[in-house]
Amino acid sequence: MASSLFQKLALTAAFMVLSHAAHVTAEEVPDVEEVGQSEEVAAVEEEALRSEAAQEGDEDTVREPVMASASAWMDRPKLRLPEDYPDRTRILRGDVDPYEVFWEVPESWAVRGGMYAEHDTLEAYGRMREAAARDGVHLVILSAFRSFRHQRFIWESKWQDRHERLPGVSARDIALNIMRYSAMPGTSRHHWGTEVDLNAFNNAYFDTPEGKPVYDWLKAHAAEYGFCEVYSARASGRKLGYEPERWHWSYIPTASRYLAAYVEADEAAPHGFAGDEAVPDIEWLSEFVLGINPDCLWDASQAGDGRSLPAPLILSMVDELAEHAAPDEQPLLDGGQCIPEGWTHEILLRWKESGFPLSDGEGSAGYLSMLEHCLADPNPDIRDGIAYEGITDILRSDRAQEAELRELKQRLLTRLVNTENDPLGFSRPFAALALAEVARTDRIESWMSQGERRTLLAAGADYTANLRDYRGFIEGEGWRHGVAHGADLLMQLSLNPEIGEGEAFMIAKAVFDAIGAEEAPVFSFEEPERLARPILFLVQRGLLTEEQIAIWMEVLANPAPHDTWQDALADGEADARRKNIRAFASILLETAEGREEGDLDAVITGAEHLLSRVP
Ligand SMILES: [Zn+2]
Repeated sequence: MASSLFQKLALTAAFMVLSHAAHVTAEEVPDVEEVGQSEEVAAVEEEALRSEAAQEGDEDTVREPVMASASAWMDRPKLRLPEDYPDRTRILRGDVDPYEVFWEVPESWAVRGGMYAEHDTLEAYGRMREAAARDGVHLVILSAFRSFRHQRFIWESKWQDRHERLPGVSARDIALNIMRYSAMPGTSRHHWGTEVDLNAFNNAYFDTPEGKPVYDWLKAHAAEYGFCEVYSARASGRKLGYEPERWHWSYIPTASRYLAAYVEADEAAPHGFAGDEAVPDIEWLSEFVLGINPDCLWDASQAGDGRSLPAPLILSMVDELAEHAAPDEQPLLDGGQCIPEGWTHEILLRWKESGFPLSDGEGSAGYLSMLEHCLADPNPDIRDGIAYEGITDILRSDRAQEAELRELKQRLLTRLVNTENDPLGFSRPFAALALAEVARTDRIESWMSQGERRTLLAAGADYTANLRDYRGFIEGEGWRHGVAHGADLLMQLSLNPEIGEGEAFMIAKAVFDAIGAEEAPVFSFEEPERLARPILFLVQRGLLTEEQIAIWMEVLANPAPHDTWQDALADGEADARRKNIRAFASILLETAEGREEGDLDAVITGAEHLLSRVP
């Protein structure tokens, strides 16, 4: 999880190389034309590869005849991918014969015959295509499934070309240059059969009178059919990965499962192509495979099913945030530096006393950045009294614009997940507390994208469930109070009208993990009270079912690894855990019984059960 300083340095170097590669390309390679050409050439070459593959085909394998008509493929039994496919690694790498696992795209839907796609993708695409046609928009598939061989062909043609034209440039720089638009063989989403490239390999086309209606229609309606623009403009919350590709659309209900499987598989790095010696020097997984539009990481249609939120994915997102903590944005070790030049502690205090005024026409960005830097200050008057209070004041008085809020959220997230640079233990808990204020603005008037909100939720849940610094208030040092601050962030999210059952599941899991943590001391700073709030709100909103509550309570009631609480208490270790669980249950019970509105019966039953099971 945690990345070392060495990794961060390597990352900084990678950033420098990236910007260098971008510079070289801007001068020497015309982006869009180049992509268009290579992809078109590749499409023609695919034919050649296919006939080559057909000739190579084993004689003893009986292939099903290729289905060309829409009605024929609809009737074939479904193969659920990737779970049902016997060799997951092969299918994730595109090392399969499309005849075996995919469906032929009807010729009339595409620029040519002989293309393949995954079953559900094709079915959903068919419905989307019809709906678009009814609105006068004509969708054409340019490319769908691509095999490892095909992707290797695209890659190696570019490799060859760069190698000749850019002598002396390192393998890594050449690879990063290619990766502006093309994936390394074995890492392309096109391997999964869930991706379609539509209408034109040219971003500018989608601004023309012909292309704009197509793009506008897709932006407005593709999500209704499960399709998402994975390589969206960078402004839409995506910082890493490939350049924007307005033609590339992904079928998320299947692709999100592939992505989860891809991360879980944790297989060997991509190999088997020219230039693969550059692979160890490139963050191909965190920056490229996962560097997609955050809205496309999740299957929204499955939000009710908590299991559709793949834990490894969440962790890699949190990890990725941590890795990209740019050096100059890292929390300060010495809080004294938080006061900017020209300011003093006295000026800060006076600024606070006059209500944190902002200069006319200046916006809040500079002030928020200064306050954010002061959140890790060891002096509680500055950290709590000025930094946190100032951020709260500016946000609650509606003085921060959306872009300023987004910038602040990003800085705070970076701080929250940075486990390496918080020696005094103030930075992360105060990032969580300030993030609760940011989450509050989005609850009152939604401004985050669904992907941004889930990333915030994932980071908050991970922090609350896994933090091990339990210091609350210490005389002379002031508050840290990590558990309560994490709970406050989760509470703001639990009240957000935009969250659904999937998010509720994540919040509840974090709360129950935190309350039952074996390492925790006896909570004495209102932690159980603060942790109970998100649960009560979620139940009141109908986002947690009775059955879920019962399961969570049962997990808490279980004295594992011991068989009975008696055994657990005998070795003296479980006493704090027992007390924390009982305190939590009592608060839930008391609050639920006192509330008139909302159906909290499940909480009452669960809490009573817990109190009867835990001595
Ligand atoms: Zn594509």
